[in-house]
Amino acid sequence: MRQHGKLEYGGQAAPQRTCVGCRVRTAKSELLRLVRVEDHVVPDLRGRLPGRGASLHPSLSCLELAERRRAFPRAFRVRGPLDVSRVRAHLEGEPRNVM
Ligand SMILES: [Zn+2]
Repeated sequence: MRQHGKLEYGGQAAPQRTCVGCRVRTAKSELLRLVRVEDHVVPDLRGRLPGRGASLHPSLSCLELAERRRAFPRAFRVRGPLDVSRVRAHLEGEPRNVM
């Protein structure tokens, strides 16, 4: 009965979050934190924006999955659709729509 070989970081498990797209649990550090600003979802690149966050793998396929599942309104507890164009622009690496 060995207890070694677990994911241990100084005796504590690394914080994990579930990707809102593919629903896979991953270390928080691997996921992009997203926050809602009015009816937009924006990437919280510095991890400093206040409020409820959602986590997403930094990949367009997870973003598309999340959109298809309407995961963002659920994650942010709002009814209306949310605009994810800034997240998409960030993932595509394009400077448009970046403030
Ligand atoms: Zn994912």
